[in-house]
Order: sequence, then C-alpha cells, then structure tokens
Amino acid sequence: MSRFLSAKYASLIPYTPGEQPRDMKYVKLNTNESPFPPSPAVAAAVSREAGRLNLYSDPECTLLKASVAEYYGVQPENVLPVNGSDEILYFTFLAYGDDQNAFAFPDISYGFYPVYAEFCNVPKREIPLKEDFSVDYRDYLGVKEHVLIANPNAPTGTCLTVSQIEEIVRSNPDRVVIIDEAYIDFGGESCVPLIQQYENLLVIQTFSKSRSLAGARLGFGIASEALIRDLNTVKYSINPYNVNRMTQAAGVAAIEDDAYYKENARRIISVREETATRLKTLGFTVLPSTANFLFAGSDRIDGETLYRELKARGVLVRHFTKERIKNFCRITIGTPEQMDILLTNIRALLDAKGNATI
Ligand SMILES: *Cc1c(COP(=O)(O)O)cnc(C)c1O
Repeated sequence: MSRFLSAKYASLIPYTPGEQPRDMKYVKLNTNESPFPPSPAVAAAVSREAGRLNLYSDPECTLLKASVAEYYGVQPENVLPVNGSDEILYFTFLAYGDDQNAFAFPDISYGFYPVYAEFCNVPKREIPLKEDFSVDYRDYLGVKEHVLIANPNAPTGTCLTVSQIEEIVRSNPDRVVIIDEAYIDFGGESCVPLIQQYENLLVIQTFSKSRSLAGARLGFGIASEALIRDLNTVKYSINPYNVNRMTQAAGVAAIEDDAYYKENARRIISVREETATRLKTLGFTVLPSTANFLFAGSDRIDGETLYRELKARGVLVRHFTKERIKNFCRITIGTPEQMDILLTNIRALLDAKGNATI
C-alpha cells in the first residue's frame, strides 16, 4: 500500500474472485459460469453494436429495460439494469445502509456481502445456517436489520420457497428485503411477482449464469418504483453509463432467445442430478441443489486436498477456508464430458489414497 491510501481503507480485505486462469487448459468448474456460449443472436447483436462505440451508451437502458420488464411481467419503472449484479448489491449497501441501518445475511453465503458491508461502513449481522446448511427463514422474521439472502444460496445451493420469502418480506415492512436470485433459473421459484404487493422487496438477478454472459457484466434489480428510484439516485451519482452498448444489445438479444437458454438450463439441471448421484456413490455428502453447482464433501478426502489434487490434474473447483465448510468443495455443473473428467479424477484420487493407507 502507498502512503497515500486513505486510512479508512487500510484494513480492508477485498473479495477474492475465483481463479480465472489465462490458459484454457483447465476444466473450469470454479466460478459457476455456463459451459454453453451465448446464443448466435447475442454474438451478432454485440458485433452490430461494436461499430457504434464512439457514442455513449443509453444511461436509461431503455430497450433493455423494456424487454426485461415485458419478460418478467412488470413495468420498466420497476427495473434497473446494472454492470453485473455485484453493482446493484453495492448500490443497495450505499442506499440503505449506515450505522443505524445494518444488514443481516447468512453466515455462509456469497462472499461479497461482508466485503460490501465493510467497504460501505455498514454494520452486519451474520446469521448461522441450520445444521443441514439450509437457511432458516424464521431467523429473518421481524428483525432489526435489512435482510439480504441469496436464493438459492451460494455456495450451498439450497432454496427457500416463495411463501417463506413472502413471510420474511411481510414481517419486515420497515426494512428492505433483498433477494439475490443469481441461480433462480436452475430450479427455484422466483419471487419477482411479489414486488407488485410489497414496496420493500428488491429482487436481484444476473445474466452471468443461466444466460451465459458472465463476461459481459449484466445484472438487474426488480422492485417497487420507489426502491428503483433510490437506486437510480445512487447510480447517477457514481456512474450513469454503467451498462455499455454491447452489453445492452447482448441483454436484449438474450431475452429474445429465451428458448435457447431454457434448454441449456434444462440440460444443466439434468447433468446436476446425475452428477450428484455419482458423487454420492463415491461416498460424498451432496447438498440438495437448485443451482448450477453442487456443494459436496467426503470423509475420505478433505476439501482442501480435493481442491488441490484436482487442480494438479487440470480440474478447477472452488474451495472455501471457512471452518464449517472447509471439508466441502463447490463444483460448477459443466457439460457431461467435463463431469466425466471430474468424476474420473475423483475416483483416481480416492483409489490412490486407498492404496496409500493399505
Ligand atoms: C455470481 C453471483 C453474483 C454476481 O453476479 P454478476 O452479475 O456476475 O456480478 C451475485 N450473487 C450471487 C449469489 C452470485 O453467485
């Protein structure tokens, strides 16, 4: 650090993104990207827009907002497109958090939540997951803090029902409830329809996972007009042109090509279920997942070793060092071929360990 860095950032511990190796030699199952490329219509829309990059992007994202609104059955005034859903999480901490207004979220969840709380100087209360690693929605009824829950949760993959979320929203009328639905297209039920009834609900989604656009950086929030106005005030105070031209065009084309992405999600769900069964056969504990990843651990090999040994064999998965989950790895669902490579390597590892102990 230089001697110029503000003292308020001296002890900041930034978010650690999953590894993004430059070479493509890994079977990359560590950051929950889609194994499928964007649809050809998206690539065409992006290249059409590239010729207009001399002009600023539309700060209102008018076309994109209209297509997201139509798709989800809301009004354009209920939608805020952002530069990856991480950005709207940041806006949310800025807009609603201060020393009187803390955020509550699960102790095991998306690693960015505590980082934003710290960065924005917002107190946080981390609520432990249940013994089985699920979120107990009753922990969030009538609380003092704003509530932030990833649903499905990450890295665990478990999901709350819409009626459980509705109870959380209804029991906290003077708090904002933020539901991060990054993985909702892989089997969970979205609570977007609830925004019609509840002014205090903000639903966040992303194009990074089910719509194969992680590299384009596109997310959005859906909420009451009042909440969207708040978040726009923050956005226009930081970065009005936050979504670039190519990404806006990519988003519109992706929504139009819905059938392609629905089919991809269906395939991922089916590969997920098959992979879970195969991991269980190898003795792994696998949490029930409604996401595009599995959270799995085994008494036969600790999480860190599994991560390291798989990496040495060219397969990247995600390992977290937090005490309660350090024996697990989060494995992104890829193509059937990638899953075969994963499982072949895990089997070889377990066999090698078995021989070593004889
Ligand atoms: C991936 C992810 C995000 C971030 O998505 P981007 O739109 O790529 O910024 C947000 N929340 C959760 C829970 C995620 O897993």
